[in-house]
Amino acid sequence: MHVIYGGTFDPVHHGHLRLALEISDRLGVGQVSLVPCHIPPHRGDTGASSEQRLHLLTLAVADEPQLRVDERELKRSGASYTADTLRQLRNELGPDAPLVMVVGTDAFGGFDRWREWQQIPELAHIVVVRRPGSELEPSGVPARLLAEREACDPEALSSQPCGLILELNPPLLDISATGIRERIADGRSARYLMPDSVWFEIRRQGLYGACTAGNF
Ligand code: ATP
Repeated sequence: MHVIYGGTFDPVHHGHLRLALEISDRLGVGQVSLVPCHIPPHRGDTGASSEQRLHLLTLAVADEPQLRVDERELKRSGASYTADTLRQLRNELGPDAPLVMVVGTDAFGGFDRWREWQQIPELAHIVVVRRPGSELEPSGVPARLLAEREACDPEALSSQPCGLILELNPPLLDISATGIRERIADGRSARYLMPDSVWFEIRRQGLYGACTAGNF
């Protein structure tokens, strides 16, 4: 089973990394691929460039064999669309291998506005992670899709290549990249919200307006 977890990772933090490990354990897979998006179609400008976000992410997973970075969206020109990424992966994996994408309820809530969203269940399973404060609108398309395609347990995902939606409710760390960017811009420390390797690099390069002087 191949599992991808996409995001802006602007910057990557312990909330992302803990979730990726939880998913890896719960699905019983050896590795989860973190896929940083190039130009997020649904967002404004990012705080750091694609290359900088990728560099920080690479530092973050350097010592963790259960996590890897998949750079494919940064290598494509133009916007990052999940359907394109999944189609590319499906071509590489062949028709029978289970392929899983992980999203939070915040992102899945707008699923029916994603490009070619109706194709996505034909390409992959979806693991929807419940995030406090981001409940799905009960009468909305994403909630209906979840009810129609719901997998009863993680094992079900191994039985077919795509098409199921599994809702998981793992413990989550209350950390957001937005909060981190605000904190750094205010001149406050973001240490312990992300691996030290990432925090030190942000300081070293002065990313997100971080002060490069003084003690780390
Ligand atoms: P921002 O605050 O800039 O929106 P973010 O911290 O929410 O960023 P993203 O890169 O936008 O991070 O998120 C990528 C994925 O990670 C999304 O599916 C989101 O639901 C999930 N995610 C973000 N923060 C956490 C967290 N603390 N715990 C678990 N999942 C998270």
